[in-house]
Amino acid sequence: MGLYPLFADLTGLPVLVVGGGHVAERKTAMLLSAGARVRVGAPALTPALLQQAEEGRIDHLAGSFQPAWLDDVWLVIAATDDHELNAEVAANAEQRRILANVVDAPALSRFQVPALVDRTPLTVAISTGGAAPVIARRVRETLETDLDHALGPLTALAQKYRTRITQRWPDMAERRAFYDWLHDGPVMALLRHAKPDEAEHVLLDALNAPASPSTKGSVLLVGAGPGDPGLLTLHALRALNRADVILHDSLVSEAVLTLARRDAERIDVGKRCGGRHTQQEQIHQLLLEQAQAGRVVVRLKGGDPFVFGRGGEEMAFLRQHGIPYEIVPGVTAAVACAAYAGIPLTHRDHARTVHLLTGHGKESMDAMDWPALAQDHQTMAVYMGVARLEEFTQRLLEHGRRPDTPFAIIENGTLPQQRVISGLLHELPARAKEHAIHPPALLVIGEVAALTHDHAWFGRLG
Ligand code: SAH
Repeated sequence: MGLYPLFADLTGLPVLVVGGGHVAERKTAMLLSAGARVRVGAPALTPALLQQAEEGRIDHLAGSFQPAWLDDVWLVIAATDDHELNAEVAANAEQRRILANVVDAPALSRFQVPALVDRTPLTVAISTGGAAPVIARRVRETLETDLDHALGPLTALAQKYRTRITQRWPDMAERRAFYDWLHDGPVMALLRHAKPDEAEHVLLDALNAPASPSTKGSVLLVGAGPGDPGLLTLHALRALNRADVILHDSLVSEAVLTLARRDAERIDVGKRCGGRHTQQEQIHQLLLEQAQAGRVVVRLKGGDPFVFGRGGEEMAFLRQHGIPYEIVPGVTAAVACAAYAGIPLTHRDHARTVHLLTGHGKESMDAMDWPALAQDHQTMAVYMGVARLEEFTQRLLEHGRRPDTPFAIIENGTLPQQRVISGLLHELPARAKEHAIHPPALLVIGEVAALTHDHAWFGRLG
């Protein structure tokens, strides 16, 4: 091992920062948040540092560096852009056995400041020993993405009840099992759900219960977005990392599925077999069986689970059967396809309303308020509309929507094979036929659709 890693308690200790620029400002902020008493020595300060000095949050030692600035300090950070001065500060510190860090100069530094992932009180520090800070930064980004923000409050709870947990489970193996439950079970889930009081109650109940708690299965209804894996949310990614089993629709792209835990079981429930009704019932049964077997089940749906995704029915079913669940929203096709085609769904000059509609089935067509939809200056985003493009167009025209209203069809939106076909409403069926549109495709009708002509930026154009 090169450097000896340590976390220092600087509460109330004097620490010197030499330099008054932006780097010094950043270093000062970190030291202040660790509770140190910071002296900043420099001829001039940034406005933010100056304000902190005026408010008495830091001491300003004005002028050029003097060795006396080091009196009483425990640590020093040299953060000027003058290499010689930094070296002088480090040499003086060395004489007095004060640990010094010189920003971006590992050879002159006695200690280094790691890259941090902050889930206080949990802190992850990353260092390459000055070899390649850029690599440390990349590792930090990965960990930032992976580590749940609820880990902070979870660690704080564990700290608060540490003594009681040790007393309740003196046996190491049992105690470890309890901590696993804390991390994987309802306490962490409740913290993620912004219910800290309930989380604490559940922890206390477990401490007072005669038997060890066991982790029950749960279901996460997760939106996978429209296909581009970059459009997953952090919550969705973390859910995929936690999943024991993934029940996914056929719309979910392979690129998204490869991000899941390698050993997670995958079940494609999107296959069109039998009537839709029985199919949905089978999905419900699968969710129930898997969750009752104690597994973390991710129900992964294209786009958003609550937009034409039957997520509402699944949620109601889970509640009815007492299965804990979480909902992770996803970027819905209308929002994503429009963005990837350069179409703002609303626009001050063109549309102030957006309708999300489905062209699936005659029933939904009959239920639509056609006279309202035929008004101009509003946008319609039509899901599952490919089979009914002609009927859709006809009904709109019959109810008076202008024949020169622009439209755009986005096929395979956000995927490398995305295609955008655009034109005017009266020519929509002909254009769609000419280009042999295949699902999945999203239809946008409204003045804003014209913008795709000049603003499309993704995938093949024209
Ligand atoms: N819950 C999903 C919608 C499911 S309905 C969501 O929020 O996006 C399925 C329909 O969504 C498809 O028929 C198509 O109209 C639309 N759709 C989904 N992904 C799409 C994509 N990548 N490109 C274009 N349309 C898409």
